[in-house]
Amino acid sequence: MTDTHVTKRPLTLLGTGDMGTALARTWLAAGHPLTVWNRTAAKAAALAPEGAAVAAGPAEAVAAHTLVVLCLLDDASIGAALEGIDLTGKDIVNLTTGTPAEGRTRAAWAEERGARFVDAGIMATPDMIGAPGSGAYVFYSGSRALFDTHRAALEVPAVARFVGEDPGHAALHDVALLSAMYGMFAGVSHAYALIEGEGIAPGDLAPLLSEWLGAMGFFVGNAAERLSSRDFTGGVVSNLAMQVASSGTLLRTAAGQGVSPELIKPYLDLMRERLEADPAAHAGEDTVGALTLLRRQGLPAKAGLPG
Ligand code: NDP
Repeated sequence: MTDTHVTKRPLTLLGTGDMGTALARTWLAAGHPLTVWNRTAAKAAALAPEGAAVAAGPAEAVAAHTLVVLCLLDDASIGAALEGIDLTGKDIVNLTTGTPAEGRTRAAWAEERGARFVDAGIMATPDMIGAPGSGAYVFYSGSRALFDTHRAALEVPAVARFVGEDPGHAALHDVALLSAMYGMFAGVSHAYALIEGEGIAPGDLAPLLSEWLGAMGFFVGNAAERLSSRDFTGGVVSNLAMQVASSGTLLRTAAGQGVSPELIKPYLDLMRERLEADPAAHAGEDTVGALTLLRRQGLPAKAGLPG
């Protein structure tokens, strides 16, 4: 006879907004004993029929289990919810979106109170949570020991990716990906604005845009290789001088279509700045060399981008 009984780790969740509720449902469905608390009590009470224990306050919720997951609006709401509450011996997993600095400060704050801490960045929307094949995952960083202890429970709502013991690194990965996403949104928005009023249906441009962005996806790996090797000229097939010259076409077309260039101009300006700084040295480069200008004087320098 085999013993198929597996104990599911109990946990507490503070914050049952849209994301917290989606997370809670996956733990309940997977059989994890779950205690929930939410500032607006009705949102936590809505999970009781699905098996959640509803705590009367955050202190009661935190006291219930060792593993305490936070999914609140922002870092300030963590301070508001946990002020004065005993965290000794707790394992705190912070799924609340924040900056790297907030993650580091919150980790020190938790450790001073006798808790272990990991910060996290959720790369998903609530409808992707617990949905197999949705691509949802969560970045974690901070206490490796905590992560290893609770990994099985953390993997229930979404794939877990540990990105190091610096508690700021989960947020940094999260924000890096979101920043790239908004750059892509900006370019796509500009493209649709250009065709508006020209009798070209957005739906006709859409597959062409998707295909083109996919084809240009090579830039991600290419930029990483060049930033690591600091070789901005080897194997270049679209040199900076040519790209700066043709950027004028983009700007004149925008002007001709009555479209503000504000979403694409900063990147074009950066390429021009790189070229004009030393045309002889930079004309034959890839555009990746322009990224070296992003770390401005006065901003803290850190390894990762060459100077
Ligand atoms: P909601 O606005 O739905 O929920 C916010 C939660 O924070 C609620 O539980 C709210 O309580 C609580 N809250 C706000 N202020 C305070 C406070 N001062 N004290 C105590 N509790 C407070 O947001 P989501 O659930 O969507 O987001 C939660 C976290 O998940 C955020 O950090 C968000 O950035 C992150 N996230 C969300 C994604 C999404 O697509 N929704 C995607 C990736 C990350 P109350 O109900 O009382 O207002």
